[in-house]
Amino acid sequence: MPYENELAAAKKAASLAARLCQKVQRELLRSDVQSKSDKSPVTVADYGSQALVSFVLERELHPEAFSLVAEEDSGDLLKEESLETLHRITKHVNETLISDGSYGVSPLSAEDVAVAIDKGKSEGGPHGRHWVLDPIDGTKGFLRGDQYAIALALLDEGKVVLGVLACPNLPLTPLGSNHEQTSDEIMGCLFSAKIGHGTELQPLDGSSSVKVRVSATENPEEASFFESFEAAHSLHDLSSSIAKKLGVKAPPVRIDSQAKYGALSRGDGAIYLRFPHKGYREKIWDHAAGCIVVTEAGGVVTDAAGKALDFSKGRFLDLDTGIIVTNQKLMPSLLKAVRESIEEKAD
Ligand code: AMP
Ligand code: MG
Repeated sequence: MPYENELAAAKKAASLAARLCQKVQRELLRSDVQSKSDKSPVTVADYGSQALVSFVLERELHPEAFSLVAEEDSGDLLKEESLETLHRITKHVNETLISDGSYGVSPLSAEDVAVAIDKGKSEGGPHGRHWVLDPIDGTKGFLRGDQYAIALALLDEGKVVLGVLACPNLPLTPLGSNHEQTSDEIMGCLFSAKIGHGTELQPLDGSSSVKVRVSATENPEEASFFESFEAAHSLHDLSSSIAKKLGVKAPPVRIDSQAKYGALSRGDGAIYLRFPHKGYREKIWDHAAGCIVVTEAGGVVTDAAGKALDFSKGRFLDLDTGIIVTNQKLMPSLLKAVRESIEEKAD
């Protein structure tokens, strides 16, 4: 079966990275108010997650060499003032590997960790295979104790062929506009998709998986929509105008990270609108995994002009303003509402 081993490796890598991030986030949320404004926990989790994913891919794909396009590199970490952070990262990586027990390795050194992180310097492109990683997508959400995701995808000849999204804080039960989190909810979702084989959702604790599908609604009045929690990442006024034009009644569901793609893939909402401020360039690791998770669940992901996203151009996506996501039936009217709202805004 094509990409079967690769998908298993990706799920293992993202699950272990999620375990590390959860531990760091728990420590962060337990800490006092003053240290909550400190950004170092997210740094530790971000680099630790990237090191773990790189290490697991190396082990699982051995002896095949692999190319990894990832958000971080170790440059800043190797500076004198960051060595303590590098040691904290190394400790978390080793503790996670020991808690899993699959790899009978002697503890990694700080240098091993820096080397694993720097495997992520690939530029990607249209030829061959490239893994694409966001070690913590939604760092702002991570710091707030909200949603974040570990997003890992594989490109083959410029196309996304598999993707996994580990969302440690996403409840297993659907989110809605009136979703109020309760303390007894089971959290932690692992979405995975392989080209031509659909999308699955599994609890992050490893129990059995179910197939998921996007919402089948044709009626915008029943469709709720997702957007970024952070107003700096997406124009909330533009999405509100689009939603109104389309006839969406529900208020926006604002959450961080590619957890939006995951939630949409199981039909929690029917639309995701993303309109960054002028001049922002989207990175491939912010969309590759989310995109296949949604498309394999029956959804459509395009730019604001209705064109499919092109992941073959290197580290950046080259696109017309904005990314929109919905099901096949709603896409034509959504595109029309997007076009009209953008024109009105330009007037
Ligand atoms: P979200 O969780 O939807 O707010 O998106 C999080 C992602 O937005 C991060 O991983 C960043 O890579 C990306 N990002 C950072 N700055 C911006 C920006 N100014 N506009 C849009 N996206 C951004
Ligand atoms: Mg990101």
